[in-house]
Amino acid sequence: MTKTYDIAVIPGDGIGKEVMPEGVRALEAASQLFDFNLNLEYFDFACAEYYQQHGKMLPDDWFEQLEGFDALFFGAVGLPDVVPDHVSLWGSLLQFRRHFDQYVNLRPVKLMPGVASPLAGREPGDVDFLVVRENTEGEYSSIGGKMFEGTERETVIQETVMTRTGVDRILKYAFNLAQDRPEKHLTSATKSNGISITMPYWDERVKAMQSSYPEVDVDSYHIDILTANFVMHPDWFDIVVASNLFGDILSDLGPACTGTIGIAPSANINPEGTFPSLFEPVHGSAPDIAGQGIANPIGQIWSASLMLDHLGERDAAAAVLEAIESTLATGELTPDMGGSATTDSLGSAVVRALSA
Ligand code: ATP
Ligand code: MG
Repeated sequence: MTKTYDIAVIPGDGIGKEVMPEGVRALEAASQLFDFNLNLEYFDFACAEYYQQHGKMLPDDWFEQLEGFDALFFGAVGLPDVVPDHVSLWGSLLQFRRHFDQYVNLRPVKLMPGVASPLAGREPGDVDFLVVRENTEGEYSSIGGKMFEGTERETVIQETVMTRTGVDRILKYAFNLAQDRPEKHLTSATKSNGISITMPYWDERVKAMQSSYPEVDVDSYHIDILTANFVMHPDWFDIVVASNLFGDILSDLGPACTGTIGIAPSANINPEGTFPSLFEPVHGSAPDIAGQGIANPIGQIWSASLMLDHLGERDAAAAVLEAIESTLATGELTPDMGGSATTDSLGSAVVRALSA
């Protein structure tokens, strides 16, 4: 029997609305080639227009509306002239991440053929790794506060929280990914020379997990030298796992090494499948170029590939990624990559390459 996947499509704001149709076209082309069905349902919340009409980013029953989907396909949110960024982000995307327990943030970092890297002399193949960021605890706890306010002794404290469950589940996800890759190499980001309680604990859990994955080659770097090595030696990395804060930093630095934010995809994953996972480009709504038809659609199309992989359509996922690579190699590039292609012409070219 042909499989059917229920996908919630949430385009959002700005260029989110422009790149989403390209992501959907690639998905539809893949479904025909690889013989599965898509049931796409569009949602008009999580955008500035919805906020203007309702005074909030989401309807009260958003959880019930979305929880039954196999995956959420998201564009970008934010229109700072209408809704302050912290309101649009906290009111939508971060609600999804939290309530659907998407504790893995996954960002592939890959230098594409035809796209110039800011790292001189680097070729595709030199930069090809995945950053796995813990998405729910760690440094981003809101435990702490201000003491002795207004006095000489004024002091602020904010705690880092690491639980065994929280640390182990992200490490397990990363180890499994590493185990599945040809290189079987996992790098852990730490700072146990300066942060003396939580980071040694992180290292300890890495060691404990390592014994269950004898085939995986593990190394560990302090975050300061690790960021330097992303730039100096990107070819050293395969799977990089990090706490919430360190992962946040690495998952912006990584894509920056690949030439443009416009191609970078991301996944917010609930690995157990209790709740739907969410797939979205790394970039935001880019109000500065919205409406011009020149936004790079690759981040959205590549996110579609990540979603297919997550749904178990691995061949379709690989075919979409190959179509992206072969299209970029022909020089069909939007302005952010130094070319003059449009969102539509690049999206169409990827669909043609996919079907070829
Ligand atoms: P965030 O939404 O994460 O708060 P932001 O609004 O600062 O971040 P973006 O919306 O991603 O960031 O835009 C940052 C810059 O990158 C802008 O100059 C924007 O035009 C450019 N940019 C972002 N996405 C794309 C894209 N898909 N194609 C071309 N340029 C892009
Ligand atoms: Mg923004």
